[in-house]
Amino acid sequence: MSVLEKITSEDAIALEDKYGAHNYHPLPVVLSRGEGVFVWDVEGKKYYDFLSAYSAVNQGHCHPKIVGAMVNQAQTLTLTSRAFYNDVLGKFEKYATATFKFDKLLPMNTGAEAVETALKICRKWAYEKKGIPENQAQIIVCENNFHGRTTTIISFSNDPVARKNFGPFTEGFIKIEYDNLQALEESLKSNSNVAGFLVEPIQGEAGVYVPSEGYLAGAKALCEKYDVLFIADEVQTGIARTGRLLATCGNCSCSDKHCSATPEIKPDILILGKALSGGAYPVSAVLANDNIMGVIRPGNHGSTFGGNPIAAAVGMAALDVIKDEELAQNAFELGELFRSELGKFIEGSTIVNAVRGKGLLNAILINDTEESSTAWDICMSLKENGLLAKPTHGNIIRFAPPLVMNEEQLLDCVSIIIKTLKQFEK
Ligand SMILES: *Cc1c(COP(=O)(O)O)cnc(C)c1O
Repeated sequence: MSVLEKITSEDAIALEDKYGAHNYHPLPVVLSRGEGVFVWDVEGKKYYDFLSAYSAVNQGHCHPKIVGAMVNQAQTLTLTSRAFYNDVLGKFEKYATATFKFDKLLPMNTGAEAVETALKICRKWAYEKKGIPENQAQIIVCENNFHGRTTTIISFSNDPVARKNFGPFTEGFIKIEYDNLQALEESLKSNSNVAGFLVEPIQGEAGVYVPSEGYLAGAKALCEKYDVLFIADEVQTGIARTGRLLATCGNCSCSDKHCSATPEIKPDILILGKALSGGAYPVSAVLANDNIMGVIRPGNHGSTFGGNPIAAAVGMAALDVIKDEELAQNAFELGELFRSELGKFIEGSTIVNAVRGKGLLNAILINDTEESSTAWDICMSLKENGLLAKPTHGNIIRFAPPLVMNEEQLLDCVSIIIKTLKQFEK
């Protein structure tokens, strides 16, 4: 069977079911093409994509500028490994560090790898700069976190499905309640060997939990007080998704093109992935200043593909698109509109309890138990009505369209969502 041979949705699903490991439970739709905010299944049905590959496709499907950079670089030089220099990586590092205002960048491929990298940097900093005794460093994390799937990362997850029978686990993590500054301060006070605090500015996978106003700034201040690194995992929230270039930016609406580049709460270590490539290629990165990144020396860490020329070219193009098309501003404005329109519907709804989020990272809470199939059934009906979304944690549906959406399309989507939800009103 050639990859170009046409198959039906049914056949494609049957193939994955028979020959693929069952580590996902996808919605039964088989996509074969994407452009901007739309995707098409193999039968030609068109859908609005309201997941954007978990916020990797912020710049829209197959953005010509990103694909152009990728194809051009793929025809020139694809991989050298870091045993040699390549002529694109340095340009990308310069561009990304200028954009996010850090001294240095360490390139990786996936989000989980970038999180692992940040943890390693944090520990090494703790031993070499803070003076924590060897093997004693602790990193504080939050309950209901999602940082990826490696053995170390699931060591501090509290999702039983992600952890069960994957032990023994990596030590050195302290779990506290999210959005609770008192818990953070108590933990910092009672443990002298804390090296870092790893946090998602909004907990995406957990169900789009937006912390209280001032939580991130308060946490950053506590980290400074106790000489602990504030590590922001912006793999999902970063790159304009929440209405600013980074979710750790202040409460500006990014109407000033230059303002978006100045985070108000500056993390000590910033973790990026997903939309750093616009979904075209795996590109992730860890950013930090010299006093922290300087602990990494040759041989300490690496990746065969990390920093490859295609990734570097794609990363630059992906950031260009965010700036050129003012996608942070667009996400901010459309997000306000989305929540206000759905909010009006929810007032009289028995099936939806709430809508929450920032920018175009939003979720609705379905009025049913986590074990119920209601959210899944709603997503199946949304699919029939031409919009793709996926439940997270049973009774929550995340809505995260590409940020290249326009107002007319967003209102069209709102009407599809409301029409569908109405079918489920009791
Ligand atoms: C998706 C995600 C990751 C992991 O990224 P992968 O590329 O899937 O390894 C890490 N942190 C957060 C917050 C994420 O949303």
